[in-house]
Amino acid sequence: MAEVLVLVDHVDGTVRKTTAELLTIARRIGEPSAVFIGDGFDTAKEALARYGAEKVYRTASPEVTEHLVAPQAELLAQLVERTSPAAVLVPSSLEGKEIAARLAVKTQSGLITDAVDVQAGEGGGIATTQSVFAGSYTVSATVTKGTPIITVKPNSAAPEEVSGAAADEEVDFTPSDAAKGARITSSQPKQATGRPELTEAAIVVSGGRGTAGDFSKVEDFADSLGAAVGASRAAVDAGWYPHTSQVGQTGKQVSPQLYVACGISGAIQHRAGMQTSKTIVAVNKDNEAPIFELVDFGVVGDLFAVLPQATDAITSS
Ligand code: FAD
Repeated sequence: MAEVLVLVDHVDGTVRKTTAELLTIARRIGEPSAVFIGDGFDTAKEALARYGAEKVYRTASPEVTEHLVAPQAELLAQLVERTSPAAVLVPSSLEGKEIAARLAVKTQSGLITDAVDVQAGEGGGIATTQSVFAGSYTVSATVTKGTPIITVKPNSAAPEEVSGAAADEEVDFTPSDAAKGARITSSQPKQATGRPELTEAAIVVSGGRGTAGDFSKVEDFADSLGAAVGASRAAVDAGWYPHTSQVGQTGKQVSPQLYVACGISGAIQHRAGMQTSKTIVAVNKDNEAPIFELVDFGVVGDLFAVLPQATDAITSS
């Protein structure tokens, strides 16, 4: 069985859920090999093995970590040439998509972005499913040239644990001068909210213009569920919630198990970011709001009355 390279997403060695998902998907199509770039490998090693990495290629070289994404794409290209993997799986983040695009050019390979499912296809190929044009179409696609380079959206698979240990190898790699063309001069961690990361959360509760700027009920309800908080662009543009929380075409794409839209009308641009969610619930006082066209459960009512009741019911259960 061929290797499947998985680019690890981590914060100082704490492996993010998307990586566990990618390793789980990799096991369906070959032998998962993680590619770990940065500090914290000792912290990450156990988690990578737990989700099925059989091997880990790693580097903490400042030549790679102190620059933007180009050296990472070069490192992956070197590994592709050396290991001839069945596929390379990369998280569908902004950074991940840039790395994947550069890698596809370097290796003259086909690229599929934003896959929501990846399976072994007929004749040894790899079958992917994408949700495109704001979720209006579901597209089945397969790479026909080179090594399949696939970016995978968060929550596309439930992480599955296995027992085993991963062998690791320090990669001997020096990026080209061109790849070192942009250097990181400083970086600051995002202020912690105590809530899960929006794109990774199993549950997202979002507020829109219907909150009238008061997100407290949305936040209380989200906290009762251990959910992330999102926002419509109307709420973000009004300065009621940070831009990093915007869900939609020009915001973040989320695909949680449960998405609760509170005081959000359901414009096409908002749907583009959330309609692949597994279960969708809306709270809206207008029973003709377009959001009700795509929900699994709808509550017609004032969010300031409905959400506190729901929060009480959950916290007292
Ligand atoms: P509204 O459309 O004003 O809806 C508010 C809803 O709240 C209404 O349905 C109302 O019935 C309900 N409501 C009011 N009070 C209450 C209450 N007390 N209780 C319950 N319900 C209540 N939008 C995004 O969200 N994300 C994007 O990424 C995005 N990108 C865009 C890109 C472009 C190029 C363009 C043109 C637009 C984009 N938009 C985006 C904007 C989008 O078109 C909508 O304008 C926006 O989503 C509307 O936000 P909203 O649903 O919060 O507000």
